[in-house]
Amino acid sequence: MTDLFDEARQRLDRAAEHLDIHDDVMEQLRYPKETLAATLPVRMDDGSTRSFKAWRCRYDDTRGPTKGGIRFHPNVNIDEVMTLAFWMTFKCAVANLPYGGGKGGVAVDVKHLSRTELERLSRAYVQAFARFIGPERDVPAPDMYTNGIVMAWMADEYSKMADAPTPAVITGKPIALGGSQGRDDATGRGGYYVLRHLEKELGVAPEKSRVVLQGFGNASFHCARLLHDDGYKVVGLSDSRSAIYDPDGIDPHAAMAHKRKSGALAGAKGNGATKDLTNAELLEAECDVLVPAALENQITASNAEKIQAPVIVELANGPTMPEADPILAKAGKTVIPDILANSGGVTVSYFEWVQNKSGFYWDADEVHRRLKQTIAPEAERIWAMRKKKDIDMRTAAYVHALERIAEAVDARGTQDYFNPDG
Ligand code: NAD
Repeated sequence: MTDLFDEARQRLDRAAEHLDIHDDVMEQLRYPKETLAATLPVRMDDGSTRSFKAWRCRYDDTRGPTKGGIRFHPNVNIDEVMTLAFWMTFKCAVANLPYGGGKGGVAVDVKHLSRTELERLSRAYVQAFARFIGPERDVPAPDMYTNGIVMAWMADEYSKMADAPTPAVITGKPIALGGSQGRDDATGRGGYYVLRHLEKELGVAPEKSRVVLQGFGNASFHCARLLHDDGYKVVGLSDSRSAIYDPDGIDPHAAMAHKRKSGALAGAKGNGATKDLTNAELLEAECDVLVPAALENQITASNAEKIQAPVIVELANGPTMPEADPILAKAGKTVIPDILANSGGVTVSYFEWVQNKSGFYWDADEVHRRLKQTIAPEAERIWAMRKKKDIDMRTAAYVHALERIAEAVDARGTQDYFNPDG
């Protein structure tokens, strides 16, 4: 087992310390339920055949079919897939979705594939894993370097094999093929609902608080524009090449228009004397809320002490390294953890699956209403757990999720039920 997977299990052990959990539950959650590895031979445009390693893991399905994205990345490996499937088990439980956790991946650099090669690879993935996935069994979604069209090819391939249109096998599809309204901004919107719901507790408010966001992609842009439209002052933004900071505020709509026109965030102007910063400087810039929304491992043991924001909202997956957590806690910072802050994405994926299964489609307002109704009470419960047990928000989120998973395992009987005198 790798460090990554061991680290995940250590988080599980730490959460368990705060609950009276039966050993049976911990035994079940210590290992993935099943992981399938395959080799995908793909015909390249020049007529040659290349083989790609691929995996899919169903970590735990006690609470329902497993759910999680498929990642196309050169560094994907079995341990990463298992670890991400483990996190998905907890994220789905945090949002109280009737799902377990899963994940998939292919070791490939998509930048070296043509579009036709990418299509053949996507279809080959479904051919290899068709008996493993399924609308009632394991429901994939997009992840790094997979998107709506990849999901469309995969759903089509599965439907051909099943000899019937089966849109519910996968989520994150284009709207024309059964995708959900409101999926595009769901992750940023979910983080926005969490922050707004906990405003009083966190001591932040529109017209008063300044926000810095790292990244200016899907999750970050939507969160930035929603907060800005409500009166928060967005003072910092970045993309992979540059970062801008303006204490007088930046309009994210104008910054996005600039990025779309020029191809980069660099050069976008705020309301005052806009400064260029490095990405590292942006994380440490003066603000009230910091939203890491780009990459993992951005807040580390070396920069945690320099972070000024009292509130950190993790829209990215894993932006804070485990060793930075105690430093942030000691400095009195509140971290809204990724498994809560970015759970809007998987929540609306669940709505897509529900709509596909029922054949009845909702408008965007309905999706937003249901998302808010799902995520806001969970934020409140996790905040209450944090206070009750005097723990940080991340631990509270894990404890909250573990409690739900344990309840489901318990409901089928543990040792105490089968051998009460034992
Ligand atoms: P995206 O590709 O749309 O945007 C990523 C942004 O990060 C881009 O603006 C890019 O320029 C920027 N970036 C890349 N390298 C950077 C660097 N070194 N420094 C600063 N910025 C950099 O991706 P996204 O969908 O917005 O995902 C962002 C994060 O949110 C990821 O961690 C992802 O796992 C997580 N997330 C996304 C979703 C979703 O539904 N989109 C759901 C859950 C979690």
